[in-house]
Amino acid sequence: MPRTGSRKTVSFFKNLFFPLAATALPVILWSWPEIASSESFTEQRSQMVEFDLKQRGISDTAVLNAMLRVPRHEFVQARHLNVAYADMALPIKENQTISQPYIVALMTESARLQPADKVLEIGTGSAYQAAVLAEIVDEVYSIEIVKILAEEAAKRLARLGYDNVKTRHGDGYQGWEEAGPFDAILITAATPKIPQPLVDQLKMGGRLVLPLGGHRLSQNLVVLTKKKDGLHKEFITGVVFVPMTGEIRQ
Ligand code: SAH
Repeated sequence: MPRTGSRKTVSFFKNLFFPLAATALPVILWSWPEIASSESFTEQRSQMVEFDLKQRGISDTAVLNAMLRVPRHEFVQARHLNVAYADMALPIKENQTISQPYIVALMTESARLQPADKVLEIGTGSAYQAAVLAEIVDEVYSIEIVKILAEEAAKRLARLGYDNVKTRHGDGYQGWEEAGPFDAILITAATPKIPQPLVDQLKMGGRLVLPLGGHRLSQNLVVLTKKKDGLHKEFITGVVFVPMTGEIRQ
């Protein structure tokens, strides 16, 4: 009897286990780098939030949670995957950049957002900032002047499921009047002067966050709050952004 039993076991392994293992093993081995790296991206993201954001003074929970959720490695070029969560700006196509995580968090926090807010961003770029905004507020609008970047950003946002972001290819100087007025507007390109059409499209109490200044290598990140008696200006920190192009330069 025991011999029959052991023969049965042997034939079970032969007939079922080995073929199964032979199929499953290559599949597991094949997908292992992906499984391993997506886990380490999550880990790298929480390190980034802890050390580059929290410990440098970002305290808005909604902003920290948004930065924990948005997969920055989906927004950088393939050759920069290994530094996707380093606290630095990285080049994207057309000589543009995806901003440094700390600055994205700082600009988002400075906009003092509420969940029901409607936000406009000028300078979609990779769409990373737009995705961070989309994690926090109901409606995001984003304009990009470089066609290929606008097209790729729209595809990327759709693929990642950010269906509360509407994008448009064009010059952001004139804003997005039909969609306004906005609770907050972020300009993510260096702006030599304040674009009046954007101020006009802000709600009373609305915030305009922008790197202000004509110098190529240094601007002031400021928040302008629209009040009855005019714009109230608050200096946040010194920054370096790529220049806003188009009508603002005329
Ligand atoms: N927010 C982006 C980074 C912005 S880099 C991100 O998260 O990746 C600045 C972007 O502003 C560039 O893509 C540049 O092409 C765009 N830009 C410059 N001038 C602009 C304008 N007038 N209107 C809209 N986009 C503009």
